Amino acid sequence: MSLAKVYSPKNVEQKWYKYWEDHNLFHANVNPKKTPYAVVIPPPNVTGVLHMGHILNNTVQDVFIRHKRMMGFEACWIPGTDHAGIATQNVVERALIKEGKTRHSLGREKFIDRVWEWKKQYGGVIIQQLRTLGCSCDWQREKFTMDESLSNAVKEVFVRLFEEGLIYRGKYVVNWCPKDHTAISDDEVEYAEQQGKLYYINYPIDDETESEGYIGYATIATTRPETMLGDVAIAVHPDDKRYKHLVGRMATLPLVGREIEVIADGFVDPSFGTGMIKVTPAHDPNDYLIGQRHNLPQINIFDVSAKLNESVPEQYRGMDRYDARKRVIQDLTSQGLLVKVEERVSSVGRCYRCHTIIEPYLSDQWFVKMKPLAGPALTEVLNGTITFFPDRWVKVYEHWMNNIRDWCISRQLWWGHRIPVWYCEEHRMPECVQPIVRRTPPEHCPHCGSSNLRQDEDVLDTWFSSQLWPFSVHNWPEHEQYGTAADLKYFYPTETLVTAPEIIFFWVARMIMIGLKFAPSFTGTNDPQRNIPFRNVYFTSIVRDDEGRKMSKSLGNSPEPLDLIAEYGADAVRFTIVYLAPLGQDILYSNEKNEIGRNFANKIWNAGRFLLMNRDTIGEVATTGDFNLDHLDLADRWILSRFYSTAMELESAMEQFEINKVSKTIYDFFWHDYCDWYLELIKSRLYGDEPRAVKKAVMSRAIDVYDAALRLLHPLMPFITEELWQNIRSRRPLETIMHASLVPVDHELVDKRVEDEMAFVQKMVDAIRNIRGEMGIPPSKDLSAIVRLTPRRTIESVKRYEGYLQRLARVTSVSFIEEDVRPKYCASAVVDGEEFFVPFEGLIDIDLERKRLRKEIDRITDIVASIRTKLGNANFLQKAPKDVVTKEREKLENFENTLEKLENNYQALE
Ligand SMILES: [Zn+2]
Ligand SMILES: [Zn+2]
Repeated sequence: MSLAKVYSPKNVEQKWYKYWEDHNLFHANVNPKKTPYAVVIPPPNVTGVLHMGHILNNTVQDVFIRHKRMMGFEACWIPGTDHAGIATQNVVERALIKEGKTRHSLGREKFIDRVWEWKKQYGGVIIQQLRTLGCSCDWQREKFTMDESLSNAVKEVFVRLFEEGLIYRGKYVVNWCPKDHTAISDDEVEYAEQQGKLYYINYPIDDETESEGYIGYATIATTRPETMLGDVAIAVHPDDKRYKHLVGRMATLPLVGREIEVIADGFVDPSFGTGMIKVTPAHDPNDYLIGQRHNLPQINIFDVSAKLNESVPEQYRGMDRYDARKRVIQDLTSQGLLVKVEERVSSVGRCYRCHTIIEPYLSDQWFVKMKPLAGPALTEVLNGTITFFPDRWVKVYEHWMNNIRDWCISRQLWWGHRIPVWYCEEHRMPECVQPIVRRTPPEHCPHCGSSNLRQDEDVLDTWFSSQLWPFSVHNWPEHEQYGTAADLKYFYPTETLVTAPEIIFFWVARMIMIGLKFAPSFTGTNDPQRNIPFRNVYFTSIVRDDEGRKMSKSLGNSPEPLDLIAEYGADAVRFTIVYLAPLGQDILYSNEKNEIGRNFANKIWNAGRFLLMNRDTIGEVATTGDFNLDHLDLADRWILSRFYSTAMELESAMEQFEINKVSKTIYDFFWHDYCDWYLELIKSRLYGDEPRAVKKAVMSRAIDVYDAALRLLHPLMPFITEELWQNIRSRRPLETIMHASLVPVDHELVDKRVEDEMAFVQKMVDAIRNIRGEMGIPPSKDLSAIVRLTPRRTIESVKRYEGYLQRLARVTSVSFIEEDVRPKYCASAVVDGEEFFVPFEGLIDIDLERKRLRKEIDRITDIVASIRTKLGNANFLQKAPKDVVTKEREKLENFENTLEKLENNYQALE
């Protein structure tokens, strides 16, 4: 007996994690005898620390991986971290500020050295934290998105896409963050309704016959009046009769004095404002397109911080955009050109990182053409090659893919994959203006031979590298080129991606697109089954607090996961979060809920102690590895049937990704069937006068089932199951529950009749315990029972269970009556229509028993009434399936019988 009286997770968890890791038990290799099962971790930011979302996400992955490993798959969970461009750069910049430095004062190279230093020292904290949680990642395969081999993958993909014309450089109005000084992609902009103003401004229309006169005004409505300083035209709809006569005329741009033309363009909405719009190609994506159609100049009026630059009249230069707005309005008012101001709610876009309002801004950027990539990626999800759980995400995905826009991939940062493009600075030939796109730095300009080359300053969007993750983790493209792509061919595609739904576009969709595009180069086939990056996507729930608010640092409602693990143990935290997470629904979380997991751990711990204690006195039969099937009684047949039913339910829930059902299934079996009932039921044999051989058989069977149930539970609670499994029987060196196989289901032992019969025994015990409880009969006092059976049941069939009744309800004698007379001074209960009487002469007071019966009669009367109402409802009868209606009728009949008997019993007490 070597189990401590009280389970303390801390030491056990540290001990076993170290053991697993030291013995390399998480590592997977190419193994032609086994089917691969690979999962890539959604790489957390290298700046990240564990939060509740990670706890859920990584527990789910570990459950899948551990389960498949035990099923005999070559299960490989590949971990790693993401370099997280902006986030990491910000962290290091903040540290520099404390030293009185900036990245500019340091210079690019030194700054990047600093980031690497930071990464070495502080980065990847989360990787250690994942170990605390028990994650069985293949740490030998740990990757970082800026590792040399992953950087090579990025360059390879960039170059190939460029050569195919799928990457291009273009001027474009991007979403500019004036605080982070970088473009961000459409999906990184967060929109929210906000109260604002709509300004109506008069632009004087020139009188063409007179050099200084005006014939009237064009009134224009705008929410961002300061951008008028970059206006290059006024536009009206070509069919708008009100303004037809103005098309082709010139107007004078107020405050600037620039002459601008009135043009006609189909984009203009005649019902917005006055039906006339200002055209500012450098600061509005739609105006940009209008400008392209009409060959208009693009005047950029902002610098990188959204301060006005030298393209505007002197009095506005250097002003912040909002100061400029006030000043422009003031100046227009004093010139009498501001017509009116209306209150207006509009949708305002903000940077997802720093929440600064985005400024549409014209700049040179690199783009990926998405339409050609999106087509196949949409097809493979719609036709089910890739399956989403829950499937409602398919619609969301479809809508986005159908409306996809080109992806701006350049970022004006220093930390990240620098764009593999160089420019010739000599320009000796006309071709020298073309970008030089190379995997390795070129030494000379291919056109003029000059060595005066400059690399593009920008880096790539972080998602550009993480989209390659399912194959870049296997050293693609080097291994492909050198013909050693065994890992890649074996572990690609991965099986299941477990991810938060927020990154369905950033990451999931792009992995599918790029996977289908590049995988044929190493799978050597065009079969989408081989080229998709994963077969299933499991979208995790959102973890909310008890009031339904999303957990966040700023609300202070997010628990510190490591504190939870310290308090409850990693097993308890893992089990609880899964137990609370129905597929596709939010989790309402609070710390106390971890009691669920902790109590469960204690329950199975105590069961283990019980078994060991008894084994030490009784001994067990040497096990063959199968369940011991000698000397079976009803309880044994029942627990075997329940075990196999549980194993089957669990397996089918796993297949459906109903991981929360998995947890409930094993919980119910272990807690109720095994601990509460089975261990109690076998006591009558273990402690009775059965021959020693029988006791030993019962003992070894109890341990067999316990051992097998620990294995079912292991993926959810890896630590305590290993500790118990190692203790419950002696194990060979290096034997571990992690690699123990699950017990195959023996369908012959799944027996519904046995389960029904045991349910009858359980109800008898419950009914008698109930009477004892309600009548206040002390547990130490023996009871007797008088039974009146219906013709459905024989006396023999009840007598058989006398031992259980004695053991579990302290019923020392059972007698039977037939006559329709109620025995005197008895409490009574009805179980499946059979009547039980418990004489209480000298044990209780009669008044109390009458009250108890009255209560029960009232309760059943209510139930009968509600079923009658239901069956009287024409609508229900019409709509409900036939068997549902039949079931309701049967239920009604049963309850009416019970009620009649209870009422008779009540009469008997009068
Ligand atoms: Zn920002
Ligand atoms: Zn050149």
